Amino acid sequence: MELKYKSTRGGQTEVTASQAILQGLAGDGGLFVPAQIPRLDVSLKELAGMSYQETAYEVMKLFLTDFTEEELKRCIACAYDEKFDTEAIAPLAKVDGAYYLELFHGATIAFKDMALSILPYLMTTAARKNQIKNEIIILTATSGDTGKAALAGFADVPGTRIIVFYPKDGVSPIQERQMVTQKGENTMVVGIRGNFDDAQNGVKAIFGDQELKKELLEAGFQFSSANSINIGRLVPQIVYYVYAYAKLLESGELTEGETLNVVVPTGNFGNILAAYYAKQMGLPVGKLVCASNDNKVLYDFFRTGEYDRNRPFILTTSPSMDILISSNLERLLYRIAGEDAGKDMELMNLLGTEGRYEITPGMREQLSDFCGYYASEKETAAKIKKVYENTGYVMDTHTAVAACAYEKYVDETKDSAKTVIASTASPYKFTRSVMDAIDEKRYSGMTDFELIDELSAISNTDVPNAVKELRTAPVRHKTVCEVNEMKKTVREFLDVR
Ligand SMILES: *Cc1c(COP(=O)(O)O)cnc(C)c1O
Repeated sequence: MELKYKSTRGGQTEVTASQAILQGLAGDGGLFVPAQIPRLDVSLKELAGMSYQETAYEVMKLFLTDFTEEELKRCIACAYDEKFDTEAIAPLAKVDGAYYLELFHGATIAFKDMALSILPYLMTTAARKNQIKNEIIILTATSGDTGKAALAGFADVPGTRIIVFYPKDGVSPIQERQMVTQKGENTMVVGIRGNFDDAQNGVKAIFGDQELKKELLEAGFQFSSANSINIGRLVPQIVYYVYAYAKLLESGELTEGETLNVVVPTGNFGNILAAYYAKQMGLPVGKLVCASNDNKVLYDFFRTGEYDRNRPFILTTSPSMDILISSNLERLLYRIAGEDAGKDMELMNLLGTEGRYEITPGMREQLSDFCGYYASEKETAAKIKKVYENTGYVMDTHTAVAACAYEKYVDETKDSAKTVIASTASPYKFTRSVMDAIDEKRYSGMTDFELIDELSAISNTDVPNAVKELRTAPVRHKTVCEVNEMKKTVREFLDVR
């Protein structure tokens, strides 16, 4: 049976999975959601014996029903290959009483790789299925992480080109180096003289420019988005929760049907929503613990039922979670409102105009799967240090926020269920903050590359290739432009003048 996708705002007719992936955002500004969440149709016992790729097929086939078996298996095989530094793709580490699900073994050593390594293949397959002959141009504004993961995913994928804009003086030296050394004939990286908001607004303006759109169509191009609201990013993220459960079953850590809690360091609410979908599919997941840093909008929301973004934006050592509008929360709101598009619109309009909204008591009752905890900067750093000293395991700052949330959850509830903590970045990606947490005095005078060697020594782990390559990789992208030259830069790259 074909699974269709509808908009959370009710203003668009249902589309197929491939059309939803190509469109990204629904025409009415809403997010696409599946008309119903499918149930797993293989047993947990069967899943226990499967590889990551096989598990991915069993999960994704249920959501992407207009992809043929051959198409989907090909996408999966192309995505989850030697780009990952372990055959397990998403290995589990048992540390200090919890299972850390390491989602950082891909090309850019953060969890965005889990979805962005397959999105390009899903998108080009979707284009073929819908008889789209145009070349697909991915436009992205980035504050650091998403841009690199999207570049790595789309590099040299036939039928696509990717242009990434980043704030020239607004990303870390390592992040900039990661981007400007990007290989691939179809990639372009541009530093803009402005901040992240300027980059994002510039990209939005290009997306909305009807004249440019027409010219590009005539030249055989169309734009698309690799943004985290794309259903083609959400569905691949469900896979690793199913896989984690199955591997714990296989190794005898869990018995069949035993409840497993999940803790997720959260920003845009995509990763934890995927865990929620896994639960809806029938995976025996218990609580979904949403972990926040000092930007604790979601913590407050789960405690009070009120979402309020009117607060200072705090820069933390877990920057990928520094976010005050969690876009993917809209999908959860729609569901707990009984799929009432009118209610969803009302709340989203309030968020736009007032920056806040409150859900009804009836909606709150349906949030019982979730709970929220947050960690301060001090608690996060102390957690990294303590776990390192007790076990030798070094975790990154985002994962440490989740580890703190887990500790607080257990203290408060005494829930003793086994727990998976989503580990979203390699400590090598946030080396400075991680090493400062372990011993600030000792490491403060060292350069980033010196710190990387120190981290390797103290954690007894190899420096990931993604980081090693940076030392010698030639800079391939040197374009810098003013904010008002972004459109011109796009035209030049595509040779449309
Ligand atoms: C993007 C990101 C997150 C937040 O994930 P969401 O799906 O946006 O909630 C957490 N940690 C890291 C390292 C990330 O890159």
